[in-house]
Amino acid sequence: MNYQPRHFQDLPEPESIDRSLSPLMFPADLHAVEIAGGVYWIGAGSSAGWVVTSEGVVLIDSGMGRREVFEELERTAGDAPIRYMVYTHGHEDHILLEDRFAQVAPGAQVIAHGFVPERLRKYEELRPHINRINSVQFHLPMPVSERAYKYPDILYWDSYSFELGGRKFELFHGRGETDDATVVYLPDDGVVFAGDFLISALPNLGNPYKVPRYCRGWIETLERILALNPAAVAPGHGVGLLRGEQEIQAGVGDTVRALRFLHDEVVRRLNEGQQLEQMVAEVRLPPELEESPHLRQTYSRVEFAVMAIHRSYTGWFDSDPSDLLPLPRRAIAHELRTLIGDDKAIISRAEALWSEGRRQEAIELVQIILRDVPDHVEARQTRLRWMETLLQDDRCVMSRGAWHSFADQDRAFLAENV
Ligand SMILES: [Zn+2]
Repeated sequence: MNYQPRHFQDLPEPESIDRSLSPLMFPADLHAVEIAGGVYWIGAGSSAGWVVTSEGVVLIDSGMGRREVFEELERTAGDAPIRYMVYTHGHEDHILLEDRFAQVAPGAQVIAHGFVPERLRKYEELRPHINRINSVQFHLPMPVSERAYKYPDILYWDSYSFELGGRKFELFHGRGETDDATVVYLPDDGVVFAGDFLISALPNLGNPYKVPRYCRGWIETLERILALNPAAVAPGHGVGLLRGEQEIQAGVGDTVRALRFLHDEVVRRLNEGQQLEQMVAEVRLPPELEESPHLRQTYSRVEFAVMAIHRSYTGWFDSDPSDLLPLPRRAIAHELRTLIGDDKAIISRAEALWSEGRRQEAIELVQIILRDVPDHVEARQTRLRWMETLLQDDRCVMSRGAWHSFADQDRAFLAENV
């Protein structure tokens, strides 16, 4: 076969990359690992994998379309063309935009689960909203607003197999972080590309900004991966490539045990008639899982998982009569603040609670003022100080995004008004 020479080192960076985000997500030095003969994986931020065969390359996810990913692909695959690309799901950091696709994989066919096109259409419809929440969630500048996605060419529902250059690829569907997820299994090498069913941390089951994910499907899919008895399992994020039975049993097994524990705990409490707040306050992982290196709460956290499992089985109503047909919260904050009649007393009580470690109550009190009077300078100063403390203490990306956004707003307000 005659291949067109490529020069991936000349590719421009995609606009979505912000290197200041985190050195862990964007290490300076990205290197592909050869998991088995011709099977490569590059872990960091969003990962990518590829298999080099005698008839071309199968690419699995995009690694955010980063130039270094494709430089590594070129280093390991030479001029062999990409013949197929598999999207493990439709999240933007795993797929490619049309122009990027034309640069790196012209003529390739994209294979994905049948729900992926619906997800991409949803992103197009909700573009301003999605841009806003992603910029808060990851503390990034507002992303570019228009995006043309490379839609899949081949859709499947339950499972899909194909061969290239004598190598077998077995794909199957599962629901976990998304409803459109695909696991890629290479039976000849015993390698699994797990997509976001594994992220080298506690799964992002509950995301404060997005729809609840699928706890039960997540467990079932990870169990299906374990039953394959694989030699290696590559995660969708992070650098935690799992190799060998012991590591896989620990990494995948701990994730299954944690998800099952959280699921069963929420279901038990729900059946007992317990309210969500009590579950959020009380449900914690057992110590052996809490300490597992595979379940660090650096991306999401147990509280958010509890909320997501609860939400997946219930409506939004919390059984408090004032929440069935809620008013803007500003209205009741105004009543409370007028009744109390002393903002200084509110702030000083809030400060006392904060220094006792009762941070959530402290924030609630100051929010009574700020819901009613968003321009209250002293309350803004207090909140900014607390947000900065939370940002020092909290290592979880999903909650840090919220603290950052309030800190940014308060800082900008105070710079203009004080
Ligand atoms: Zn992802």
